[in-house]
Amino acid sequence: MKPRATKQEIQHVIERIEEFGYKVHSIEGEERVVIGVVGVGDVTACLESVEAMPQVEKAVRISAPYKFVSREFRPGKTQVVVDGVEIGGDEFVVMAGPCSVENEKQILHAAEEVARAGARLLRGGAFKPRTSPYDFQGLEEEGLKLLARAREATGLGIVTEVMSDRDVDLIAEYADLLQVGARNMQNFALLKTLGRCGKPVLLKRGLSSTIKELLMSAEYVVAHGNPNVILCERGIRTFETATRNTCDLAGVAALAELTHLPLIVDPSHATGKRSLVPAVSRAAVAIGADGLLVEAHPCPEKAVSDGAQSLDLRQFATMMRELQPWITLWKQMRVTETAAAV
Ligand code: PEP
Ligand code: MN
Repeated sequence: MKPRATKQEIQHVIERIEEFGYKVHSIEGEERVVIGVVGVGDVTACLESVEAMPQVEKAVRISAPYKFVSREFRPGKTQVVVDGVEIGGDEFVVMAGPCSVENEKQILHAAEEVARAGARLLRGGAFKPRTSPYDFQGLEEEGLKLLARAREATGLGIVTEVMSDRDVDLIAEYADLLQVGARNMQNFALLKTLGRCGKPVLLKRGLSSTIKELLMSAEYVVAHGNPNVILCERGIRTFETATRNTCDLAGVAALAELTHLPLIVDPSHATGKRSLVPAVSRAAVAIGADGLLVEAHPCPEKAVSDGAQSLDLRQFATMMRELQPWITLWKQMRVTETAAAV
């Protein structure tokens, strides 16, 4: 719709689309409303009819199989606000904390130090997807309570993983951003439930998933009612064994062309080695990602999960300091991009 379209004009367009038998899904931006036409079959007649209506700016056919998350649907970038922190806007947002919540002292210490170093959100798993059933599975609700305490103490919003659609309500009570882990990227029951949960979602790329499959999974969440989705590149499985996974940074650049959703990089799971985390983080800034998800632990040697890839808190602070000049360049790049998009 044109920026000055009235509610009534928008309603008329919606009614016309529904007369053709399609479903309607609108997104209200700051400047304009975009009305999505959803359904099967040839949409040509509907588009032609709608395009002739007052205050309709353009009717565009979207060719990608993912619709709501595509750049065709929304040419500008989407900002997802998590507990007052905007991701996808003009701030490079770092989320950090341990792989797993282990005990009160550990999570509080980690939260205080990552906040001091400039992290804007606290990560920590309470429900852990472990390859072996004999490994630590997470503190579950007790872990969520400890995260809530860390939130109270530091003011940091919480990012934590949800593994099953049965746990969504419980985790949404505590978390500000619900993480879907790589192993669950195609858990469609979970994605549908998250579509209805009302809290933002962090969707990690599956271990062996293509960019298109990642976007289709994001489409599930958005199509079921939740437009607040952030995508995360966390490395994919290849023949290479020198790193835990292969960080597909070119894929991040490709995603930026295909989708308006915010994109972050997890350099910890992408490499599996703490020594590689700062370099991959810099590269993520340079490629124009919107933020990072980093594992940082008070004592990585003693971590119950992912110690080898976790920075200690001092290393995290050093990395944050060393990222600053790159983030300054990132901000200049962001201003130029935003100006070009307008
Ligand atoms: C995690 O963030 O701790 C995690 C399990 O990540 P992934 O799902 O990317 O392996
Ligand atoms: Mn981990």
